[in-house]
Amino acid sequence: MTTTNFTVDTDSDGIALVTWDMPGKSMNVFTQAVLEELDGIVDRVVADADIKGVVFTSGKASFSGGADLTMIKSMFDLMEEEKRTNPDNAQKLLFDMVGRMSGLFRKIETCGKPWVSAINGVCMGGAFELSLACHGRVAADSPAVKMGLPEVKVGIFPGAGGTQRVPRLANAQDALQMMTTGSTLTPQRAKAMGLIHEIAEPKKLVSAAKAMIKGGLKAVAPWDEKGFKLPGGLIWSAQGAQLWPAASAIYRRETQNNYPAAAAILKSVFEGLQVPIDTGLRIEQRYFSHILQTSEARSMIRSLFVSMQEINKGARRPEGIKPTKFRKVGVVGAGFMGASIAYVTAKAGIPVVLIDRDLDAAGKGKAHSEDLVKKDIQKGKTTREDGDKLLSLITPSADYADIAEADLVIEAVFEDRDVKKAVTEAVEAEIRQTAVFASNTSTLPITGLAKNSKRPKNFIGIHFFSPVDKMMLTEIILGRKTSDKALATAMDFVAAIKKTPIVVNDTRGFFVNRCVLRYMNESYNMLVEGVPPAMIENAAKMAGMPVGPLALNDEVAIDLSLKIIRASIADLGEGAVDPRHLELIERMVEKEGRLGRKNGKGFYDYPAKPAKKHLWPELKTLYPQQDADKVDVKELQNRFLACIALEAARTMEEGIVTDPREADLGTILGFGFAPYTGGALSYIDSMGADVFLAMCKGLARKYGRQFRAPKLLIDMAAKGETFYGRFNPHAETKTAA
Ligand code: NAD
Repeated sequence: MTTTNFTVDTDSDGIALVTWDMPGKSMNVFTQAVLEELDGIVDRVVADADIKGVVFTSGKASFSGGADLTMIKSMFDLMEEEKRTNPDNAQKLLFDMVGRMSGLFRKIETCGKPWVSAINGVCMGGAFELSLACHGRVAADSPAVKMGLPEVKVGIFPGAGGTQRVPRLANAQDALQMMTTGSTLTPQRAKAMGLIHEIAEPKKLVSAAKAMIKGGLKAVAPWDEKGFKLPGGLIWSAQGAQLWPAASAIYRRETQNNYPAAAAILKSVFEGLQVPIDTGLRIEQRYFSHILQTSEARSMIRSLFVSMQEINKGARRPEGIKPTKFRKVGVVGAGFMGASIAYVTAKAGIPVVLIDRDLDAAGKGKAHSEDLVKKDIQKGKTTREDGDKLLSLITPSADYADIAEADLVIEAVFEDRDVKKAVTEAVEAEIRQTAVFASNTSTLPITGLAKNSKRPKNFIGIHFFSPVDKMMLTEIILGRKTSDKALATAMDFVAAIKKTPIVVNDTRGFFVNRCVLRYMNESYNMLVEGVPPAMIENAAKMAGMPVGPLALNDEVAIDLSLKIIRASIADLGEGAVDPRHLELIERMVEKEGRLGRKNGKGFYDYPAKPAKKHLWPELKTLYPQQDADKVDVKELQNRFLACIALEAARTMEEGIVTDPREADLGTILGFGFAPYTGGALSYIDSMGADVFLAMCKGLARKYGRQFRAPKLLIDMAAKGETFYGRFNPHAETKTAA
């Protein structure tokens, strides 16, 4: 049998070295072809009497990223096909397809010859599950080696034996913690948990693995031997009685029961540990085929894996424009945002000049990077050498001549039209005609600001989110005259600093802030209605939001909310704002002096640490309170998700966002919109536009016009359309194919 993805070399000791090295790919992944070839290799190894054992490793820098998730999509396509021709068999077909990988790994485990996995780099998901089915595991002692079962992060779970083998090797508590959070393990942690046997010097990895076989490694998994004992004790034991009630409670606390895949991990482990391994694997297979069919899995895989990859690879980048290699970037305004933008730029290895009104202010901006580097060195996240290199790339300055050579200049000065105008002129007096000028404004329309520019086609918005070093999203905003070249340059920059870009047409608040304002406004409505504040916050979290709207408003600053409300009235008239919102926010800021977290007083109180923040007790005295028992919590949850989803739909109708992938990712990465939904538009698509519309109609009757649906949705509901169908991001590719 010839193999294209593996090489097999048997040495004089009869140990076959199976090296996984897929041609033309930077990373090994499981595909149907890989599974078939590996199956053939197992047969060959078993049949060949000269082969005593197998060392399995990778020919690439990493071991493997696990299963190619597009394989899951092809399983669905086959199942859908079967549903049409032979509906009774469709579930069985999916169940069998799902069991393929697990069955192969079990075949390795029971083949009668010892297998050792030599883990030389990142080893994730299915690849780690394969390693767990080997009789021995050695990992290279290197920071590049990371192991884990991260499936839960995209709405699925380890379905190739992970839920059965991890808790049979480690104690069930560690196993649950690892799988339900999808956390990654260093070799040291994996060894401490009992998941690998040895850690070896990288150069001696394969020889260490071979030595295990030569040392008489048994070709039997511990759980296939008589007298096997679970390391964490039996389910129905004193230990089990301590673990399981707490595990269920923690699951509920952490997920609000919104993540069926996390629940399936608990169920698979709980049930699987009470039966022999083969039955346990069947249990896992059954839950896995169920989870694959949930809307959570489909939506999360689509947005958080497929779309994320496509968008990060530049799906929205205009074609045919040469990529920009940044020799120098200028950042003007070394304050809160500018200092952080300079840091992420230098972190990407790009020299950056950080300008402020005087050298002192610019130096303070650089000091921010010095702090971050110092902390990273203390935490062992970077070395002093790399830290020094990063800092050497940042040049503080007060002289615009220093940015003359920059390919891109980003301004992050005060949010003031006149200041921005003066800075634009000062920058353009120095930079080349072809250089791109970007504004990090959060509220001022780009087309208006571009009027200050002599070359509006080179003028663009790059809107960062705070904290810049943690937030993965950037909004790229097109002014009316912004050219494709400027867009391509902005996208190249965002790719260089490893963030996810969404491309947005110019509008007040752009995309993310428009949506997030709806979320906060709805909490004002609830306060005014007399919903107890704690219920408002809890309902939002139950709906899947990471931070309640009142807590979020405190982070953003309540005086900023007041500024935004007043600016809306000034620009759009009295009707643009609910007078009750103005009254509430004016009272918070001007009468009560509650500005948010920044002055320790907002919707919450912020006592000195270690005490925790808590809702401001007086908040509930501002409005007559409803009886908590009579408040419909589910309806509160629906209101939060619906008001955001409606705003996202409006931006699609207005052409502010044009690609549903971007709207979905923007809402998840921008402010954590219930990730299990796959984003605000997937939330609507999953329930169906007609069902969503009916819900909004009911909410509009009870709570007001914020729930009125745009025409687009009414039209989609009538035609039975989805966002991904109507605005199919892959439509052109399809026609071309
Ligand atoms: P900031 O007040 O912390 O920093 C502004 C900096 O600009 C100061 O260091 C100031 O000295 C400098 N500056 C002012 N005039 C200047 C001039 N003429 N020349 C050179 N430097 C000058 O403000 P910030 O919070 O960093 O906001 C900056 C911009 O980023 C604003 O447009 C804001 O809307 C936007 N933004 C802010 C956030 C946020 O969370 N704060 C988020 C996204 C976007």
